[in-house]
Amino acid sequence: MPKGLTVVLNQPGQPLALETLPTPEIEPGGILIKNTAAAICGSDLHYWRNDNNYAGPDMRKVPGHEFTGVVHSLGKGVTTDSLRRPLKEGDRVAFPFFNPCNRCYWCVRGEHHACPHRYRRSQQFSLNEYPYCDGGYAEYYFLPPGHYVFKVPDALPDEAIPPVNCALCQVLHGLEYAELKFGDVVVIQGAGGLGVYAAAIAASSGASKVISIDGQPHRLEMAKRCGATDTIDINELKTPAERVARVKDLTDGRGADVVMEVVGIAAATVEGLDMVRFNGKFVDIGNIVPQTVTFPATKVITNQIQWRGLMHYNPWIMPAALDFLVRTKDRYPLSKVVSHSFPLSEVNKAFEFAEWQGKGGGTAATRVILKP
Ligand SMILES: [Zn+2]
Ligand SMILES: [Zn+2]
Repeated sequence: MPKGLTVVLNQPGQPLALETLPTPEIEPGGILIKNTAAAICGSDLHYWRNDNNYAGPDMRKVPGHEFTGVVHSLGKGVTTDSLRRPLKEGDRVAFPFFNPCNRCYWCVRGEHHACPHRYRRSQQFSLNEYPYCDGGYAEYYFLPPGHYVFKVPDALPDEAIPPVNCALCQVLHGLEYAELKFGDVVVIQGAGGLGVYAAAIAASSGASKVISIDGQPHRLEMAKRCGATDTIDINELKTPAERVARVKDLTDGRGADVVMEVVGIAAATVEGLDMVRFNGKFVDIGNIVPQTVTFPATKVITNQIQWRGLMHYNPWIMPAALDFLVRTKDRYPLSKVVSHSFPLSEVNKAFEFAEWQGKGGGTAATRVILKP
């Protein structure tokens, strides 16, 4: 089996290292992927900065979860993708970065996003054993038997694909989870990669207003090009009370039907809950680093807010997301969500650049990618 250049995070908060790691024997039903591009997502930055003081006996892992590749080799018995379309070596594919087990209480109910066994082994075990190259910042990735994989439509350019398996699928499932209705007003807190996708999906799903909130004018501009009808710049409306008042102004005093948080700061949740109308929905996606906030429980109960946390997505979301990109490719510049590209060997430079960009540096939106 081939060996591949692999980025290794030995300890969160430390510079990333480069190693050459083996790839596993391909079991029947498995697929070895040759990675072609991997994006740097906000959650990779959380880990890289060590925002949560992550600790454990063996923290070594291959980072990178927003990525794509081509089929390098198919295990015995694999002849199609998960929609039974013929699959061969060299085909471009998209796949989730987590592996629902298909044999547990949640999976049999179709709740694959909540399968407790869906995490990749490298988050719990050493990288020195199967399946080795187990992340997106690497030349190879192994899809275990039974794992979902979808052919990428020919109509889509390569650069549109890396953020599909995290950012795009995550917010598509988020708006699905919110049971968005035709004519709903949607607020999206954050206009990075996830926020821009969310704006486009909400607009395409019949939202009557899509209100994007961010602190970077070029991101808000991108959100507007991708379906946002209104924007709130937090540098202009500096306090949560002013921003909540603006949302109320735009909704005849009611608040939004759906508010989605993709910022990753707990204060955004406290603020976002105040933007929801009575009996509306708040979908919390970005707050993956534990942060404590305090507010009266009545904020949720009296206003009857359906506060829904969501992490990961169900398998059908991915082909729906790819099809969405095809259908809207001439309407929204979503493939331009990727802004800069670095070779794998310059991973530390790429992370520093993404960090600088995330803090408002430069003028481009919104995702940096690494190319193995
Ligand atoms: Zn991500
Ligand atoms: Zn399961």
